[in-house]
Amino acid sequence: MGSESVKVVVRCRPLNDREKALGSQMVLFMDQHGCQCFIEKPGVADEPPKQFTFDGTYFIDQTTEQMYNEIAYPLVEGVTEGYNGTIFAYGQTGSGKSFTMMGMPEPAAQRGVIPRAFEHIFESIQCAENTKFLVRASYLEIYNEEIRDLLGTNTKHRLELKEHPERGVHVRDLSMHTVHSVGECERIIEQGWKNRAVGYTLMNKDSSRSHSIFTIHLEICNIDAAGQDHLRAGKLNLVDLAGSERQSKTGATGERLREATKINLSLSALGNVISALVDGRSKYIPYRDSKLTRLLQDSLGGNTRTLMIACLSPADNNYEESLSTLRYANRAK
Ligand code: ADP
Repeated sequence: MGSESVKVVVRCRPLNDREKALGSQMVLFMDQHGCQCFIEKPGVADEPPKQFTFDGTYFIDQTTEQMYNEIAYPLVEGVTEGYNGTIFAYGQTGSGKSFTMMGMPEPAAQRGVIPRAFEHIFESIQCAENTKFLVRASYLEIYNEEIRDLLGTNTKHRLELKEHPERGVHVRDLSMHTVHSVGECERIIEQGWKNRAVGYTLMNKDSSRSHSIFTIHLEICNIDAAGQDHLRAGKLNLVDLAGSERQSKTGATGERLREATKINLSLSALGNVISALVDGRSKYIPYRDSKLTRLLQDSLGGNTRTLMIACLSPADNNYEESLSTLRYANRAK
C-alpha cells in the first residue's frame, strides 16, 4: 500500500477568549502552500522553530468547508464507490476535534465533516444511475476498552468484539439503523451524542475520555447493461478520539489513571498501526493491541483510505501538548 492512502493534515484553532484574557501568545504558525507547520518554544528566543510537513495545513481562519473539499471529499467519494474509509480527529481536549467533526450550523462554511459527509453520500446516491443503495448507520463508543452501543436499547450494555472468518472483526449485537436521508442521519447522530453525554453525567465522567465511532455502511447494487447485479459494500468511519493530553499533567491517580492508561493505549496503538502502514515495509501491523485498532482493522490499510486531522491550540501554554500532537501526526505520515 502506498502512503497516498493515508493522509495527515493539521488544523489550528484561533486563540479563545480565555487565552486572550490571559495574554497568551501564539506559538504556532503555518505556511499553507508548503503544507508546513512551525512551533516556537515559548520564552526561548534564540532557538529556531521546529518544523513539520503534512499533507495539508489549516490555520486559524480556514474553514471546514475548504478542508473537506480539498482532503476529505475524495475519501468519501471512494466510499460511495465501495471502498472503506476512516476519518479521525486527534488532539488534546479543547483543540477543535468536535468543532471539526460535528461543527456548527452557522456560518455554513464551518459545518462539520460529519454532516458534510452525510450530504455528500446522499447526493451521490441521488445522482447514481442504474444503482441501488442501502444505507445503514451505527454509532458506538469505546471507553476504558469497553464497547457500548450509543443507539442501542441499553446503552450501558457492554458489547463484545468477535472475529468471523467471512465477516472479519465485528461488534456482536451492535444495532444498525437504515437511513434514507441526511435528516435521518442527523437525528440519529444527535440521539447517540445525547446518550453519550447522559451516560457520562450520570457516571460523573467526561466524554472527552472516550472514543466514538459513527459508521455509515453502504451496500451498492449496480445493474449493468445485461441486467446483471453487481454488489459492493463500502463503509465510512467517522472517529472522534479521546483527548490526547498526557495524564502526568492532569495529576490523575487510581481509577482515573487506569482509565487514562487505556486511553493512551488506544491512541498509541493507533499511532503504531498508522505508522506501520505508512512505512509500507512492516510485515506485521499491530491491529490487535487495542479495541480501537481491532475494530477498524478492515478500514485501515489494504484497499482503504485514512485521513487523520490533528487539531491544535496555538497558545504558548499548550506548547508541550501541541508539540506532542505534531510528533504523533508526523509519525503517522
Ligand atoms: P475538542 O472536541 O477537541 O475538545 P472543541 O471542538 O470542543 O474541542 O473546541 C473547543 C472550543 O474551540 C469550542 O468552543 C470551539 O467552538 C472552538 N473552536 C475549535 N476550533 C475552532 C476553529 N477552527 N475556529 C473557531 N473556533 C474553534
